[in-house]
Amino acid sequence: MVNKKMDELVLIVDDDVEIKDSMHEFITRSGYNCITASSAEEAVRLLKSNHVNVAITDIILPGKDGLELTEIMKQKHDIDVIVMTGYSNEYSYEEVITKGASDLIFKPFRFEELLLRLKKVLKNRQVIKDRARVLDKLEKLAITDGLTTLYNLRHFYNQLEVEIGRCSRYGHSLSLLLLDIDNFKTYNDTYGHLEGDKVLVRLSQIIKSCLRTMDSAYRYGGEEFTVILPETKGEEAKNVANRIKRAVEVERFLPEPDKVVTITISIGLTEYFKNEQLSTFIKRADQAMYNSKAQGRNRISSLFVEPGSNQNNQDPGLPGNKN
Ligand code: GH3
Ligand code: MG
Ligand code: MG
Repeated sequence: MVNKKMDELVLIVDDDVEIKDSMHEFITRSGYNCITASSAEEAVRLLKSNHVNVAITDIILPGKDGLELTEIMKQKHDIDVIVMTGYSNEYSYEEVITKGASDLIFKPFRFEELLLRLKKVLKNRQVIKDRARVLDKLEKLAITDGLTTLYNLRHFYNQLEVEIGRCSRYGHSLSLLLLDIDNFKTYNDTYGHLEGDKVLVRLSQIIKSCLRTMDSAYRYGGEEFTVILPETKGEEAKNVANRIKRAVEVERFLPEPDKVVTITISIGLTEYFKNEQLSTFIKRADQAMYNSKAQGRNRISSLFVEPGSNQNNQDPGLPGNKN
């Protein structure tokens, strides 16, 4: 008996006690866990407390029949169903498959044949699961920055578009941060690219740790990052920006033995203005970030649009705030 099979649980549904019991014995002897039910109703009850992988059901049952049961099971569970029937003239393969079953076997059958079909269904299940896992991995890879494991630029544009759509539909606010490491070229030139990479990785972790669950962080370019803050007004976004800025300031890097170095970042902050283009929105965050650079770095600058104007106006209250 191979142990691995014991992970699989098979449910047999048949009101014919003799068939049910002999199938149970054969399937158990073949190395699978097996439970049985005499009706669809009992099967549904059993499925609530057992993680069944494959159900083998007769069609004619007292109460609900095996085809109804198949539909119910497929709707509620991640399960494959093999349907069996003694009425080969009355039920077609197409009909049974349309109900969601994976296979149909006509009685009387040899148990060896049933076992082969069970194995085939289980193998297909595994193939589908493996494929889904690979697809999931590929999807994640396609939106992830390899170095920092933050989301990448492509995902940034997609998500920003999604959030802008939500903004327009529901009218709530949306803020954007653009962050750029100060004098990072000097850091790289002094300690080497690999040490620079370590800063990028650590900085990404710091940014993530400062965010709320609905916020998302992206690597925008080499040493630039963005943060999308949905349902967030500028003032609130500034709190997040401040949290990040302070967390970066207190972080200690050790690019060489006994060499403790700190870094700073310049942040640009802006809020979405109704109906504006995505590119205008990003450009304003970029402009705000450059204002931070121009005013001496290690600071947060905000640029907001005056209501009723299409002009970008610097908010007199916030830009260049060094806090
Ligand atoms: P500023 O304060 O004006 O932003 O100065 P800066 O030196 O940070 O800006 P600049 O644009 O002149 O240089 C950015 C540097 O970022 C250049 C490059 O060495 C570094 N950089 C960009 N991408 C990576 C990366 O993937 N890894 C490492 N280690 N460094 C990178
Ligand atoms: Mg830069
Ligand atoms: Mg820089």
